[in-house]
Amino acid sequence: MGCGKTMQLLQVAFNYEERGHKVCVIKPKTDTKHGTKLYTRIGPERETDFCFDRNMDLYQTITKKYKNVQCVLVDEAQFLTPKQVDELMLITINLNIPVMCYGLRLNFRREDGGFEGATRLLQIAHEIEEIKTICECGHKATLNCRFLNDKLVTDGPDILIDDGKAKIEYRALCPACYEKYLLRTGDDSCGSRRVTLSKGVPHESRVGEEKAAGPAKNKSAGSAQRSNNVHSN
Ligand SMILES: [Zn+2]
Repeated sequence: MGCGKTMQLLQVAFNYEERGHKVCVIKPKTDTKHGTKLYTRIGPERETDFCFDRNMDLYQTITKKYKNVQCVLVDEAQFLTPKQVDELMLITINLNIPVMCYGLRLNFRREDGGFEGATRLLQIAHEIEEIKTICECGHKATLNCRFLNDKLVTDGPDILIDDGKAKIEYRALCPACYEKYLLRTGDDSCGSRRVTLSKGVPHESRVGEEKAAGPAKNKSAGSAQRSNNVHSN
């Protein structure tokens, strides 16, 4: 959603490689928009070591083919299955290396449990860091919003990637701008909640109350890689 998480992942990979360490960079096959590459809007790109589907055993794959790496970096980690998150945890224990997962905490609907992979990461990660990003109005963005042909949508399939047929975008918004777009869209599915959240509460306070989407990171406690550990913009 444009909060710079892939950029930060690439920076961590660079830091390791600059010091002569190998890393394993992976992403889910679900994210088909840029093929097997990691892509950032400000330029840097990188080929992944592999892309995984929901059935892949990440523990088996990484311990067999990538056991010489010093760090595993996962992009779009919200698409992991809970079982795969547990497999990554086992890697931190048995290989004694950090696994850093970058992803969204919430899906675009805001109303339900979000991504099961993100939920599992938040449950078991050794450390969690928020990557902050700003809304188009300049306030802190806390919501990952789906726009279909430039209109905010609040319902639809969990996963929808731009296939060139309709214009699908994900934008980071603050709660106030989300409400503004909701009114413009004419979608009143969150009406009751809107009144509750807005009543007598200044904009700034409301922004501060909700947590931003950010990375959940599953990291070996004994790791010496703490210098790579700053994930806030
Ligand atoms: Zn805003």
